[in-house]
Amino acid sequence: MEKQFEKSKIIHLEKAIISICILSGLVVIIGWYTGINEVLSIIPKSATMKINTAIVFLLSGIILITDKFYSKNSIFLYIILSIAIITIGLMTLAEHIGWLYLPIDNFFIEDNISTSNPGRMSPASAICSTLIGIGFLAEKLTNSIFKKIGFYALIITAVMAMVAIIAYVLLIPIESKAIFFKSMAIHTSVLFLLIAVLNLLKNTNTEFFRLILGNYTGSKLIRKVLPLAIVFPIIFNYFLIFGINKQIISLEFGLVIFSTFFIPISIIYITYISLRLNRSDIKKAEVENSIRQSNRYLKQFKDGLDQASIVAITDKRGVITEVNESFCKISQYTKDELIGNTHSIVNSGYHDKEFFINMWKTIGSGNIWVDEIQNKAKDGSLYWVLTAIVPFKNEKDEITEYMALRQDITERKKAEELKSDYVKKLEYKNKELEQFAYVASHDLQEPLRTVINFTDLLERKQREHFDEIGLTSLHFIQEATVRMSQLVKSLLDYNRIDKNNKISLVDCNQLINEIKKDLSKNILEVKATIIVNQLPKIYGYETPLRLLFQNLISNSIKFRKLEQNPYIEITARSNHDEYLFTVKDNGIGIPEHQQDKIFEIFKRLHSRDEYEGSGIGLSHCRKIVDLHGGRIWVDSKLGSGSTFNFTIKSNEHEKKNQLHIVN
Ligand code: ADP
Repeated sequence: MEKQFEKSKIIHLEKAIISICILSGLVVIIGWYTGINEVLSIIPKSATMKINTAIVFLLSGIILITDKFYSKNSIFLYIILSIAIITIGLMTLAEHIGWLYLPIDNFFIEDNISTSNPGRMSPASAICSTLIGIGFLAEKLTNSIFKKIGFYALIITAVMAMVAIIAYVLLIPIESKAIFFKSMAIHTSVLFLLIAVLNLLKNTNTEFFRLILGNYTGSKLIRKVLPLAIVFPIIFNYFLIFGINKQIISLEFGLVIFSTFFIPISIIYITYISLRLNRSDIKKAEVENSIRQSNRYLKQFKDGLDQASIVAITDKRGVITEVNESFCKISQYTKDELIGNTHSIVNSGYHDKEFFINMWKTIGSGNIWVDEIQNKAKDGSLYWVLTAIVPFKNEKDEITEYMALRQDITERKKAEELKSDYVKKLEYKNKELEQFAYVASHDLQEPLRTVINFTDLLERKQREHFDEIGLTSLHFIQEATVRMSQLVKSLLDYNRIDKNNKISLVDCNQLINEIKKDLSKNILEVKATIIVNQLPKIYGYETPLRLLFQNLISNSIKFRKLEQNPYIEITARSNHDEYLFTVKDNGIGIPEHQQDKIFEIFKRLHSRDEYEGSGIGLSHCRKIVDLHGGRIWVDSKLGSGSTFNFTIKSNEHEKKNQLHIVN
């Protein structure tokens, strides 16, 4: 990333330098032909950029452009132009040394401005041209020695250009400059520096540039120190030379001041930078520490996961890339057999295509998928696993792999299967029993009716033939048969509860009012008070619900204390997805240990002489409450009244379920 960023920066820089080279080259050439001296020497009375130098920059610009193309022609042009630049440089140098005289100085135009060597570029410019040309050429050569030569050629060019620029910045007059730099123009120096630096940057493979551009502490340090090392002496020397020129201070004293200032300022600056670097190193160490810690935590987590789960990692196409020991153990495949395969290797064929399509849809959209899967081990045995598949994403939010965590649930599944078999058998037996009870009670009605009819007939028609004992016995028989008939009728009702019923919206307040009317005679007789708080409308089976309330209310009246008038309070409140109803009385109460038993069929706590009844009422109530998906229980203390509680499911889902059962 960082490298790419640097590259794009260099590309921008290159474009800028190409434009500057070509533009300045052209402008100076035009300047020579048109006599616009201002473009030849930017600083008045300083050296001019010669036309040959301008040509060198123009050619450099073209070389940099051709470098962007990779055709044979462009490489050929690149090499030819590089050689041309070297040739211009070398020929000028040869002239300077005095070896030979070539008519190249004023080849294009006569230089009437320069006093010494008119038209000839300075020795420094000639050397820079030669070196720049070598630098260009070396870039295209593969030999490492040539490459090194090219690198040093560019370094020397940059240093020479820097010296020339600094001399200009420090306003050193031409006569004080070494002969070497005397006629090197300021823009010439800047352009040579730019080309050299650009070519060096393009070849960032060198240790020095890796150091300058790197991201390590040393690189940061050098980036921060270099500006001080360059800028401070330039600025300081500028004032120093100014002082010396104006004879404010002597040269020796100036050098002393320079040394005494440079040392402490460098120390302060470097100390400041070092402190900042130390601080960032401390922060880095802290981050490293926390990463190490979270790595340790992650490792522990992974170890735990490995121990507890069957783990497999797949790529985004589902190809297994990693499995743990538990996976190998349960599937009976080795790691080598599993890795590179998909999970189809353990597919049992139990689930249909839709199941897996849904799974891929879920995980493919980045969500976690959880379900139970039946798999097949290598030996063909089947096992069940509760599976969670977690998609892993990269920083771009793209799924890169999936982790499947599994738990062996084979035993649980077996138990469930057994249980469901058992439940089915139980349901079947229950149905059989219910049918038997229904048929028995239904068929019992007939002989019972015959007994009742005939005892009635006997009493009416043959009464005079019975003595007192005979009449009492007949009476007992009549009573017993009526009771038995009632019992059989109750049994029939009990069995009929969930047959022929329809769910409807039942208004419980209205239901209680109707019950109160039905029981009004009884209520008046015992002076019972029945308080009904606001009751809800519920979805349920109306007739059974009526029976439920009626049984509870009549029990509260029946099991009253002799010395007290019955007081009954009926309330209801909504509790999550159900209603909780209570029927509270001030009756005789029920001992704690008997409180569960009273809901069993035929269970009574009193003899018939004490309280009438069949022992079916509360079992009937429990069956009705069951039918509505609720529970029934009693809170009571002997002698302190009883509170019967029952719940009725109220949520929509349950309502639909119930409707479904009924339909
Ligand atoms: P039955 O009322 O025909 O006896 P139930 O099944 O209705 O039969 O009641 C079973 C037993 O529970 C009753 O015999 C009675 O002992 C006890 N019981 C029921 N309701 C009350 C009540 N409100 N207060 C005291 N005991 C009660």
